[in-house]
Formats: sequence, structure tokens, C-alpha cells
Amino acid sequence: MNIILLAPPAAGKGTQAELIVSKYQVKHISTGALLRKSLKQEDSISKEIREIMKAGKLVSDQIILELIEKEMDTAKEGVVLDGFPRNRVQAIEYEQLLQKLGQKVDAVLYLSIPKEVAKKRILARRTCPNCGKIYNMQIEEMLEELCGSCHTSLVSREDDNEETFDLRYETYMRETNPLISFYQEKGLLIEIDASLKKEEVFEVIEQKLRMLN
Ligand SMILES: [Zn+2]
Repeated sequence: MNIILLAPPAAGKGTQAELIVSKYQVKHISTGALLRKSLKQEDSISKEIREIMKAGKLVSDQIILELIEKEMDTAKEGVVLDGFPRNRVQAIEYEQLLQKLGQKVDAVLYLSIPKEVAKKRILARRTCPNCGKIYNMQIEEMLEELCGSCHTSLVSREDDNEETFDLRYETYMRETNPLISFYQEKGLLIEIDASLKKEEVFEVIEQKLRMLN
């Protein structure tokens, strides 16, 4: 089963990807994680990526697709893509890659969330600088902002501010949002209300994926 996750910032894409992976044994392909992983390796493509990033340039779609193709080699149960495709060109390129491999996209899960709800989530987010645990102050009931695991004072990430959120959201609307109609026309789009709790969102995802089989 090949799934694509499509979502604006703060819709819980990473969390849902993890839940999908543990339930369906598909492989999680996050392009950010792929690039970080390849930076530590010594093959020719990794060297190329290091040079591009050192020069402050963007890694091309071709390279990202090559990395995805490699991952798909060992993904017997399929993949869940998180962070790719980000625009129409990439969507078409990914379609061509799957065709070459004799596969197809089975579902595109669109986690929809109103902009204001997403923004509130970002502004309520705290992380533990010691162990990396993430908290949402809208949900947590605590007197002091201390990590439940290691009692360190929680902090807001520097990029979890209103300005950065607005910028990321604008980029998403301009580049990625058009993919909704792209996949809708192909009959692949499944819209999920992502303003619910993460367990509830995942329950809906399970229901929808069950209907595919
Ligand atoms: Zn901690």
C-alpha cells in the first residue's frame, strides 16, 4: 500500500505517519530524514548531496527521487510519503517512478485543519531541550512548564512563532495545496479532519483505509 500524506504545517503529519507505519508495516519515507541519513553515508549520491548542501543549494527532485527509489527497494508492504511531493511537478515525477516500478499510489490522505487552529497548535508547542519530548500546552495540565520525563524547563522552538508559521503556511498554500485537486481528479484523495485528537484522527484514517481493500 503506497500512501501520500498531504497536510499544512502543524496538522500532525509526522505523528500520523508513525501511527500508520506501526499499524500497516509500511515504510516511512520523510524526505527530510532521508537527506539527513544520506549525509552520514559514503556512497557517491551522498557525496553529491553534501556538496550541494554545503554550497547552500537545494537538492534537486532527481536526487530526491533516486533516494526514494532506493528506499522503495526494501519496502515490501509499501510506503507512506511525508514531505513529498510538495508540488505538481514532483507529483508527476513520483507517478512516473511508481509506474516504472510497476506500482501505484493507493491513497492520498489530506489532513485538513483550519489555519487558525494550526497556528494555535504551533504557538502552544513546547519542547524539552534535554530529551526532545514535545508538549502541547493546550492539552497539558501543568502548573509549571517542566518536562514530565526529565524535569527540565520546557522551551518554545525558535521557529515556532507566528511569523515563521505564516510564511510556511503561505508556501504550503501556493505550492502544495494545488495537489488536492490534482489527486481529487484521480479519485485518490481522502480528506481527514485533523483538528481532532491524534487518536481520533488515526481512527478515521484506519476506517478509510479499510474501505480501500
Ligand atoms: Zn525532557
